[in-house]
Amino acid sequence: IFTPRNVSQVYNFTNTLGHCLGFRYLLRSSSAPARAMAFCSIFCPRIPVRFRPKPISPFLSKPLFPLSYRVCSSLQPTPSTKDELGSVSIGFLGMGIMGSPMAQNLLKAGCDVTVWNRTKSKCDPLVGLGAKYKSSPEEVTATCDLTFAMLADPESAIDVACGKNGAVSGISSGKGYVDVSTVDAASSMLISKQIKDTGALFLEAPVSGSKKPAEDGQLIFLTAGDKLLYGKAAPFLDIMGKSRFYLGDVGNGAAMKLVVNMIMGSMMASFAEGILLSQKVGLDPNVLVEVVSQGAINAPMYSLKGPSMIKSVYPTAFPLKHQQKDMRLALGLAESVSQSTPIAAAANELYKVARSYGLSDEDFSAVIEALKAARSQQS
Ligand code: NAP
Repeated sequence: IFTPRNVSQVYNFTNTLGHCLGFRYLLRSSSAPARAMAFCSIFCPRIPVRFRPKPISPFLSKPLFPLSYRVCSSLQPTPSTKDELGSVSIGFLGMGIMGSPMAQNLLKAGCDVTVWNRTKSKCDPLVGLGAKYKSSPEEVTATCDLTFAMLADPESAIDVACGKNGAVSGISSGKGYVDVSTVDAASSMLISKQIKDTGALFLEAPVSGSKKPAEDGQLIFLTAGDKLLYGKAAPFLDIMGKSRFYLGDVGNGAAMKLVVNMIMGSMMASFAEGILLSQKVGLDPNVLVEVVSQGAINAPMYSLKGPSMIKSVYPTAFPLKHQQKDMRLALGLAESVSQSTPIAAAANELYKVARSYGLSDEDFSAVIEALKAARSQQS
């Protein structure tokens, strides 16, 4: 049984052990990326934020070889004692399902955080926890060293960055802008260009992981862009996430995220079909969920969402409108390289039907309702 105390001991022990065994050197060796990944996973498990220990010395203040070294940066992340983290002023734009808990975790770790959201009231809980508030993205980037943006879609990400009183108007050389929204590569490149024209640095860093991983500081960052900014942002990404990948030029992070979510969207649509088919032939869908969970196709998503889908309740972790947006963008990506994606295209149609039934703000698992509707039309 893991308690905060012994988790903390294990955490420090694994860091020390890894260092003693010299794996840090091994991880820098590009000839052994697979072994490096394995060692990272074994010796540096990421512990939810609430269980992470306070640093016992600057030497042990961070994992000695964070998972980011899977896709190596030559930059050593700067040390991250509470004082050092607090010396960088952080801006956060977008207090939605994902942005709020991410900003909260930065605050809890001792960061100096300034927030903005289109709907101001969503900033109130963060201000209650000690965040500062500014009334426009421009004011946030003008006063902060490093600004994160977590916005709904390409349109809002571009508007908040490049529109009137947007982030570009306030940012300048020496500062950084990290867009963690899920957008397409072209939108990310557009934002990147405008930010970089001011002399500031840009990193795209869409996340894999949903509401709970955001709350637990367990997100996976898919970054691309300025490597210098990647190094500077790393201690803050590590507060909000369990791993990070540096993928090269702007657009690669966006593309990786869209491929991941295209797979997820198709998986969910197929799972929904399976639940309904099992019911139709007289099987207990709860047993189906249990069987799936024990086999090779097990995915946490099925165990998490299956029971509520069977009860026809869809508490929103990932809004269906965002899943459909990601399917649409992924299909656009596939189209741009003439890649055939018939399964994703079919799944996208289902999400569109679900949206037409007013399910946009429900969890994406509500896609099952589109199938139920099709079934009742047939009978
Ligand atoms: P959300 O709860 O719908 O939040 C969207 C945010 O964007 C809100 O702050 C919203 O402001 C803002 N926004 C929307 N349109 C805007 C506009 N025109 N101008 C300015 N701000 C605007 O979404 P979320 O779940 O946090 O997702 C945010 C991003 O992360 C999306 O790109 C999504 O695809 C991605 N993502 C989500 C998850 C997940 O599980 N939820 C997981 C991975 C990635 P208001 O509060 O004023 O509406």
